[in-house]
Amino acid sequence: MLKETMRAYLVSQDGEEVKGEVTTLPTDQLPAGEVTIEVEYSSLNYKDGLACIPKGGIVRTYPHIPGIDAAGRVIESQDASFKVGDRVLITGYDLGVSHWGGYAEYVRVPAAWVVKTPENLSHFEAMALGTAGFTAAMCLLAMERNGSTPEQGPVLVTGATGGVGSVAVNILAQKGYTVAASTGKADQHDYLRDLGASEILSRDDVSVTDERPRPLLKATWAGAVDTVGGSTLSYLLRTTNLAGNVALCGLVGGHNFNGSVIPFLLRGINLLGIDSVACPMSYRQDIWQRLATDLKPNNLDQMSQVISLDDVTGAVGEILQGQVKGRLLVAPK
Ligand code: NDP
Repeated sequence: MLKETMRAYLVSQDGEEVKGEVTTLPTDQLPAGEVTIEVEYSSLNYKDGLACIPKGGIVRTYPHIPGIDAAGRVIESQDASFKVGDRVLITGYDLGVSHWGGYAEYVRVPAAWVVKTPENLSHFEAMALGTAGFTAAMCLLAMERNGSTPEQGPVLVTGATGGVGSVAVNILAQKGYTVAASTGKADQHDYLRDLGASEILSRDDVSVTDERPRPLLKATWAGAVDTVGGSTLSYLLRTTNLAGNVALCGLVGGHNFNGSVIPFLLRGINLLGIDSVACPMSYRQDIWQRLATDLKPNNLDQMSQVISLDDVTGAVGEILQGQVKGRLLVAPK
């Protein structure tokens, strides 16, 4: 049953300042929606970090509850597709962006956003994956739709110790790919090898920063999952082998990149944009089914840690500085 109040991490604006704190709110302030869910876990993604700071470019209206992911049980439903007690999850859409998100004991959302959690996926596992894992799976599936196979050679995952990166390394390795991982964390090579990486590169090795770089460098990678963008994408465009697939999902290294048409014309490479937010529902459900079965990472425990609402402020600082390793789940109770 819906309680009258709920604990939540509320972000408020005061002039130029934006501040997050744990508070208690009346549940009658929950936004409109057909389905009310008691949240078991949410998670912390880079985008959640941006939602908690001034000029992060994510939130327009305050006060706001962040959390772009949520998993839990339905406690009220005005939509026939969902009944009280159903296990459900939500990632993407406007959750935690223009609609109050998962850093609270309850979320209320449109039924059109809600996915029934696959049977063989616990809510710990669902949120250890979260938007990050869902996006890593989208990257792999986009590459394979474009012809990628393990036999074509090594694939590079950039920003590899991050949320998307950790899951991508693990899923690709499980699928038989030879995975190289680039990281700025010199002390996390063992972690990446445990996830399945067979080669580790430093962040500087996979970056092109010259003002007038050569249009092509040695063809090295059959494909890549790029969570970094910026000068790392400039490097990938120049080093991807014939007909290779670069799945681009992130921008932690910047949103501009230096590139030319030459790799597209002389090596036939493919740059694949990945958008997990607006992924259509039927494809979304298929991906979650696969994440619960053949794409389920075998190292979710090792890459995940649970934090409380009280820990969110500190964790936001860490994720925005690229210091988080793997996935942080947020338990609102
Ligand atoms: P994380 O913070 O968990 O991971 C990012 C990782 O990138 C860091 O851990 C670090 O890994 C590396 N990194 C951080 N800063 C820099 C930098 N300045 N230059 C190079 N590398 C850096 O974030 P997420 O995994 O949640 O998200 C990764 C990116 O993907 C973000 O840009 C996010 O917005 C985007 N994203 C996009 C989605 C989509 O639908 N398109 C969905 C989900 C995420 P290391 O130390 O190992 O190098």
